[in-house]
Parts: sequence; structure tokens; C-alpha cells
Amino acid sequence: MATSDRSVFDTYRDRVDRPLSRLFRVYGRPEIEWFALGMAANVVARIASLLPPLVLGIAIDAIFVETEPFSLPVVPDAWLPVTQSGQFWFSAALIAGAFLTTAIFTWVYGTAANTFAHRVMHAVRTDSFERMQRLDMSFFDDKQTGEVMSVLNNDASNLEVFLDDALQNSARLGVMVLGIAAILFYLNAQLALVTLIAVPAMVLFTLWFMRAVEPIYVAQRASIGDLNTRLENSLGGVQLVKTATTEEYETERVRRASYDYFEQTMAVIKLNYVYRPGMELLAGVSFAATFVVGGIWLFSGPPLFFSGEFTVGTFVTFLLMTQRFVTPLAEVSTIIDQYENAKASSERVFGLMDIPVRITDAPDGVSLDEPEGRVEYRHVEFAYPESALAAAENDESGERVLHDIDFEAAPGETVALVGPTGAGKSTILKLLLRLYDVNRGEIRVDGHDVRDLTLSRLRGAIGYVGQDAYLFDGTVTENIRYGNFEADDEEVQDAARAAEAHEFIRDLPAGYETRIGERGVKLSGGQQQRLSIARTILQDPEILILDEATSNVDTETERLIQRSLDRLTAERTTFAIAHRLSTVKGADTILVVEDGRITERGTHEELLEEGGTYATLWGVQAGKIEALSGRFED
Ligand code: ADP
Repeated sequence: MATSDRSVFDTYRDRVDRPLSRLFRVYGRPEIEWFALGMAANVVARIASLLPPLVLGIAIDAIFVETEPFSLPVVPDAWLPVTQSGQFWFSAALIAGAFLTTAIFTWVYGTAANTFAHRVMHAVRTDSFERMQRLDMSFFDDKQTGEVMSVLNNDASNLEVFLDDALQNSARLGVMVLGIAAILFYLNAQLALVTLIAVPAMVLFTLWFMRAVEPIYVAQRASIGDLNTRLENSLGGVQLVKTATTEEYETERVRRASYDYFEQTMAVIKLNYVYRPGMELLAGVSFAATFVVGGIWLFSGPPLFFSGEFTVGTFVTFLLMTQRFVTPLAEVSTIIDQYENAKASSERVFGLMDIPVRITDAPDGVSLDEPEGRVEYRHVEFAYPESALAAAENDESGERVLHDIDFEAAPGETVALVGPTGAGKSTILKLLLRLYDVNRGEIRVDGHDVRDLTLSRLRGAIGYVGQDAYLFDGTVTENIRYGNFEADDEEVQDAARAAEAHEFIRDLPAGYETRIGERGVKLSGGQQQRLSIARTILQDPEILILDEATSNVDTETERLIQRSLDRLTAERTTFAIAHRLSTVKGADTILVVEDGRITERGTHEELLEEGGTYATLWGVQAGKIEALSGRFED
């Protein structure tokens, strides 16, 4: 069996191959100009920043101590001033120019690198959202929304930090280490060896650190994931938490998750505080060695096996350069951290993008031009996938919930589905919408297997009014227009009138422009339902699914909703799920669904005559009504 306790996320994440190189290939390449500009400007800025100590050393020797002629590397001597004051002002101008160049190019690289990073991230975020929306319904059944949110937010931010900071810092590190080493060797190769003697130790120390910190980073990332899941679960179920008064229990669980994260973070921090001062100590050793050897060389000639000339200016340049060395090297640990994070994050991003979508348009999908609304179910068998992973892997081992479902609805007919909860009524209709695909048999609309139709045409031809009318954050008009973006204000209002919603909308603070939903005016269940009916009227579908649309409302509202539904269902093929049989009495066909099978079928009269389950249920419900009215008459 393909399923296990690993989530669909873990599975596809693990299959991602070389995620960072894929990130560059797919998303970095279109923005390559920004990347190149950033890198080039970074290199120029860093090289310019190395000039002042070099010029300072040369100026000291030529102007203040007067032991050497004024001469710069690369620049021909003929171009240089000959007087000492000329040389002084020239050096001052060079130093000022170097600072200015560093500033300007730092600005250029900052802008270019950030543009690169944010453009890439924008593309990644939009693409993963687009991809995620198309995932099969079974993916969302697994309640993976927390993971998805964290991919779209946290992981995208991690990648952005990496693309911006880490890349530029590693470029800077490279330029600084190579540039400084080159200058030192150029000035005095023997002393350069002394200065750089600590570098192999620094490299070894860094390798040790990387190896030690890697598993802790992995644990840290896992614990932040756990913490987020906990928080989200508790918030999502806040009503249950309150009613069950399990606040303390939840706090305890969050405390444990948070403490785990705290411990992992502390472990990382402790290692970091061994690493950074360690690196500084090694840099200090290198500084002290340079100072001792260079100093002795200056006041009593070359020590030990050293030979040749050594000047004050070179000494100053050496000491300044040695200091510059430490910061970029100590950043190695940050770079590694960001790199590891980015690797994990891009794995998660591509893991999400790689989850296969099973329910897609057939390559040569038929687009229904003018659907009539004939629907046929032919020997349909269906099992929900056991998990999102099973769905992604096309594993059909779930428990079968529909058996041999076979019926049809002619255009304009109403088919009612009745039966106990959990019998499979909603499932039957979800299959028509292709939220899932049948395992065996087929469903046809106007003679075409739904799998051969384009999804947009199929779903566009079907309207759905359920118990929970979902309203987006936005105005009333926007919410109704969700059914058909082309509709003008007039049509929106006509739809609202037909849905018996016009009156209450007019009474809202800003009428049709009132903001509703999460951050706006809250509407009652009945009002929400009428908006959702208006939306469906505007959509004008040929086929309609009504899922217990009139439950949970008072009698007056029910009357309004029923009246608007009657308008909606006239001339459309309608499938209605209802518990109260009185609402489906007039249906052309009533199907009794029990345990995933159609056990009775016929009109109301036929079923009463048959004397089966339907007749019994009808008896009970009608009895109740009589009993109720009887009581009122008393
Ligand atoms: P009804 O609409 O008649 O109340 P449903 O079609 O909702 O019944 O459910 C039929 C069966 O399928 C039930 O056993 C239910 O537990 C199961 N079921 C419903 N939705 C899902 C789902 N998303 N994933 C797995 N099983 C489901």
C-alpha cells in the first residue's frame, strides 16, 4: 500500500532533486540580468573598499617616512604627481574616490540584488498558489492548509533572504578573501604567509561547525513546524477548545512544542557562540603574529628565516587588511544557515508544486457549447482515497462508499436524493462536479463522459447551493458577481430580487456596496444563503445542485428561500438533497440512498404505494407535523 503516516507533503518533498539549482534554472534565469548586475556591482564595491588601506600604506612610505618612491600597483609611474604635496592630495583624492565608489556600487548592488530576490519570490509565490489551487479536492480533505500557508509565507521568505543576503555575502566573502590575499602577497609574500597561517585552521573550524550544526538545524526546523501545526490546530478548533474547556490542555501542548523549539534554538545559538568568538580568536592569532613578525622586522631587521626589505607603510596596510578579514569569514556561519534554510524551503516549495493533479482536463477536452442538462449515472462505484497521498498516487484502496449508482435526469427534471446521513448523497453529487473521479462506471452530461469535458465548462454548467454559503471579504455586489464577472449592476440587482435578497441588501448601511465577510458586516445564515442563491442565478447554470439549502433557518426565511429556489430550479436539471421530505415531494424522481446504494426510486406517490423506507420516513415526518399542529390546535 502506498499510504503510510507520511503526508503527501513529505513524500513529494523527499523526491525533489537539487532544489536550489532548480530554483535558479526555473525562476532565476528570467531575472538573470538583475543577478549579474548585483554581483558585478558587489565585486566593484568590495574591491574599491580595499583601496584605502593600500593607498594609506604607500602614502606613509613615500610622503611621511620618505623611504620609498610614490608608486601604485597597475598605474604607470609617469601618471603620478612628482611633488610630495601633489602625492598627498592625490592619495587623499584616491581614498575619497574609493569610499565614494564603494558607496555608489553598494547602492547599485543592494538595489539589483533585492530586485532579483523579490522578483524571483513573487514568481515562486504566485506559481505555487496557482498550482496549489488546482490540486485535487482530496488534498484539501487532508486539512493541509497550515502547511500550504507556511510554504507560501515562511518558505518564500527564507528563499528571499537566501537569494538576497546569502548570495551577496558569499560573493563578498570570496572577493574579500581573494582580494586581501592577493594584495598581501603582492606587498610581501613572506609576511602574507604568516598572516594567512590561520586560514586553514579557520576552514577546518568552519567545517567542524557545519557538521555539528546541521542536525540541530534540521531538528529546529521540524520543531518550528510542529509548533505552527499546534498553534493552527488550537486556533482552528477554538470553539471546541472553549466548549470543552480544554484551554489548559491546549496551553500545555503549545508549551511543550514551544519549549522543544526553544531548546533546539538554544542549541544552535550555543554552537554559534562557540564558532564566532573562535573565528575571532583565530583572526586575533593571525593579527598578533603579523604584528610581532612585522614589528621585529621593522626595528631590528628580518627575523628568523625572513629576508628582504620591510616598510612602515606595508606594516600598516597588513594590519588594516588583517582586521578586514574577520567579518566576512565570521559570516560563513550565517551564510551556511541561510543556505540550509533555503535548501529545505525550496524543497518544500517544489514538493508542493510536484504533487500530481489527477483531475485535469482531457487533452482534447470537449467544450459543451450549449448544454441541455441531461445527466446520466452509469454503474458508478466510488471510494474516497484514504489520504491525499493515496489520491496523488492513484491508490484506490479506500473503502467503497458508492455501489452501482445508476440513474438519469432528463433536461429540466428534478431528482431528489433522500436517505440517512452518511449514505452517500453528497458524494454522488460531488462526483458530478468532478471534485473526485469515479473508480468504475461513468457519469455523462449531455452524452459526454464528464472526464472528457473541460473542467471549466463542466463546472460552469453546474450551480451549487449548499448549507454553508461561503461569502468572500468584499462588497455585496462583488460577492454576487462571483457567479458571473461580466454581469452589470442591473443584472446583479435582478438576481438579488429573484433571490428575495434585494430588500435586506437595500437596508444595509451602504446597500449593494456594503462590505461583508470577514472584515465587514456579518449576515445571518438565511441572508448568506440568499446571496449565494443570487450568485447562482447570475451564473445561470443548466444544472443545479441543492444541498439541504433550507435547513437552519426560520419559517419566514425558509418561505423566502423556497420561493427563490423555485424560480431558480424551474427549467433547470436539479438535484436536491433534503432531510425534510415535504420539500422534495414534487420532484420528478426521488432516489432513496442507503449505505451507498439506491434502494428505492420513483415519484412521491409511487414510493408511498411501494410502502418501503420512503413511505415509513414520510409517515414519521408527516406524523410529527400532525402531532405538532395537533398540539397547536389544543
Ligand atoms: P450524505 O451526504 O448522505 O450524508 P456523504 O456523501 O457525505 O453522505 O458521505 C458518504 C460516506 O463517505 C460517509 O461514510 C462519509 O464518512 C464518507 N465521506 C464523506 N466525505 C468524505 C471525504 N472527504 N473523505 C473521506 N470520506 C468521506
